[in-house]
Amino acid sequence: MTVAIVLYTSDLRVHDHPPLRAALSSAEEVVPLFVRDARIEAAGFDAPNRQAFLADCLADLDAGLRARGGRLVLRSGDPVAEVAAVAHETDADEVHMAAGASGYAHAREGRLRDALEREGRRLYVHDTVVTALAPGAVTPAGSDHFAVFTPYFRRWAGLPLRDVATAPRSVPVPAGIASQALPARSAVQGVSAHLARGGESQGRALLARWLSDGVKQYAETHDDLAGDATSRLSPHLHFGTVSAVEIVRRARQRGGLGAEAFVRQICWRDFHYQVLAARPDSAAADYRPRHDRWRTERDAGEEIQAWREGRTGYPVIDAAMRQLSGEGWMHNRARLLTASFLTKTLYVDWRIGARHFLDLLVDGDIANNQLNWQWVAGTGTDTRPNRVLNPLRQARRFDPDGTYVHRWVPELAGLAFPYVHQPWTLPNHDRAAIDYPDPVVDLADALGRFRHGRGID
Ligand code: FAD
Repeated sequence: MTVAIVLYTSDLRVHDHPPLRAALSSAEEVVPLFVRDARIEAAGFDAPNRQAFLADCLADLDAGLRARGGRLVLRSGDPVAEVAAVAHETDADEVHMAAGASGYAHAREGRLRDALEREGRRLYVHDTVVTALAPGAVTPAGSDHFAVFTPYFRRWAGLPLRDVATAPRSVPVPAGIASQALPARSAVQGVSAHLARGGESQGRALLARWLSDGVKQYAETHDDLAGDATSRLSPHLHFGTVSAVEIVRRARQRGGLGAEAFVRQICWRDFHYQVLAARPDSAAADYRPRHDRWRTERDAGEEIQAWREGRTGYPVIDAAMRQLSGEGWMHNRARLLTASFLTKTLYVDWRIGARHFLDLLVDGDIANNQLNWQWVAGTGTDTRPNRVLNPLRQARRFDPDGTYVHRWVPELAGLAFPYVHQPWTLPNHDRAAIDYPDPVVDLADALGRFRHGRGID
């Protein structure tokens, strides 16, 4: 019997999975393998919310494979050593996997290719499993990547996507391969109380509901904080339980203004992947240095802690930060507001905020988290790097009656506009009855500090 291994990473599905299809068409049996990577765990990248969601995804992937006569094999350790061991045990000739975009993923592919070739085996790395278009599929003249979104989007939107691969009917797996027990979500400590459930079945059901209903209003409602009218597909895209290619194809087929606006957002995801693939150092270093003298834990420790805990005294910021800890997810408009507040209003290093997000976000992802933080901080690809979002104006616009604030900041229940957004302006006796902090910073002072730090005045 010929055997091929499918190494799963950020693509935990059976539908639209080119590496699985390729392995099945070239070998008689396949080993669907997931390796819990000891280095990712050691680097603190396995935040509890993602561990819990991952546990759901692995269980559901195993169920999807079992429904096709197969199963998932789980190992832990160094993926290169584990794949080599499974290849040795099964005498597999080939390994198929999805291409990654981070420096870590590239290094892993290189090490794996070398280790397999030394033993006369081959690694096949498949594009467009994680993204809709491969990083580097479109480039501007004279550069290896697009540094500005709009021209990237124009080119991206004009290119054909590959066909969606159907799910295989049968996945024959060799008998007798040892597998560790799959992790249980219930065994993970420190998970957000309202974390969504993971897994391909959940992801596909969510996508179907979204396309049949939610997406049509997306262009008008995607910024409405209380409306919560976005797809919430981001964790599924992060773990690959739904495919970006399939989402874009089905959204385009559906058509309409909402679907168009939604596809544009998926393009933002590809955009950040192609920046990270070309500039892996942008995960930690300024993409465009602005010579900021950022404040850090040393000079802004209390303000940073107030931001993390949702106690800044700005209700919309606090509601958003509490949504993050309560759900392991935050609305995009809220991410923009809280990131602008930390980097521009408190003038704190974006890396501190990005780390906190990565500790909690179920969709926390190096390309999209780090590069969105840089975008907001003005060190990234934003063509207006010095814009500052005013939390009061934004609150009035995107949470006009305070419903979002009421949901997450119960101390302010019952307060109406405008007090729900600026409780410090309440008459003294009403203010005294509310256990809620005064603002950690004056917005005019903060703006002056930022402009001075950036050398704008
Ligand atoms: P929808 O509005 O339904 O959009 C559909 C999909 O498009 C999303 O699932 C996502 O994959 C993609 N998308 C939407 N907006 C963006 C964007 N600005 N950049 C990249 N992709 C986008 N997204 C992550 O997936 N992981 C992160 O770690 C992450 N960190 C962020 C940090 C900051 C500071 C900011 C401002 C944004 C961040 N985003 C991140 C992008 C965006 O906020 C989320 O993708 C979005 O809120 C997810 O909700 P949704 O699935 O309902 O999005």
